[in-house]
Amino acid sequence: MRGFLFNNMDIRGVHIRLDESVQTLLQQHAYPPAVATLLAQLFIASALLSANLKLQGRLSVQVRGDGPLEYAMAECRLDQPGTLQPLLLKGLARHAEVIDDNLGLHQLLGKGQLVITIEPDDGQRYQGIVGLEHDTLAACLEGYFYQSEQLPTHLQLAMSASEAAGFMVQRLPADINDEARADEDWELVHALVTTLTATELLDLPAEQVLHRLFHEHDLTVFAERPVSYQCDCSRERSAHAIVALGQLKVDDILEDLGSIVIDCQFCNSQYAFDKVDCHLLFAPGTGNPAERETLH
Ligand SMILES: [Zn+2]
Repeated sequence: MRGFLFNNMDIRGVHIRLDESVQTLLQQHAYPPAVATLLAQLFIASALLSANLKLQGRLSVQVRGDGPLEYAMAECRLDQPGTLQPLLLKGLARHAEVIDDNLGLHQLLGKGQLVITIEPDDGQRYQGIVGLEHDTLAACLEGYFYQSEQLPTHLQLAMSASEAAGFMVQRLPADINDEARADEDWELVHALVTTLTATELLDLPAEQVLHRLFHEHDLTVFAERPVSYQCDCSRERSAHAIVALGQLKVDDILEDLGSIVIDCQFCNSQYAFDKVDCHLLFAPGTGNPAERETLH
């Protein structure tokens, strides 16, 4: 993924092209083709939206509705702002058993919503929700930016059997005295980016896309930022979830089932805790993760 900034205009952008990580995401479950396509788009979109965030935490993009696709979401984990740490993505969809191949956004989701959630590790959670008022996810995201942040945005998402790519340009808040010029700049850049075809976006590296569109303009192109598929589930996070249930509830489950198994819905990993494991989680000073944290 590569970000860029126009040196003489208040406009920024991001380019992303992924192959392996999208394949890994789609291999986690047997998704019908229409669901897989939308999930790959969400995956790309969550990376595009994370590109300019200066925080440590998570960003997720979710669509949900009352159609055969109950929901699909992708989540991006952001670490250490300002460094070139990789963006770690994961995603998940829940759907009816049989879904026709050619269903579009509205047929998949029925009456649906787009939900953007930003959760800094320390700080207030932000959630923006808009109706799915356009025919494509890209157009709905453009609508979200306009509605929630008044930022005119152009967003393009493209998929092939083995790759997924995305491109976004966004107008930045400009000097109020210079709004006429900023309008003209935006119109010019917008006219250029709408000539980018899906084939070009999928086939060309970032440098060539930027050269093809903006060779007459002065750009600052930032260093490549790695993006990869990675589920961040762990035995320790599962232990936190068990502790959060409370000892009474955990004792009840152990009595019924003999052990507790935490399933990760994203990657299908399983974390099993038997009676001894659970006992240690609640024993003071031994294995209680909540307690360990306060000690450090
Ligand atoms: Zn997992």
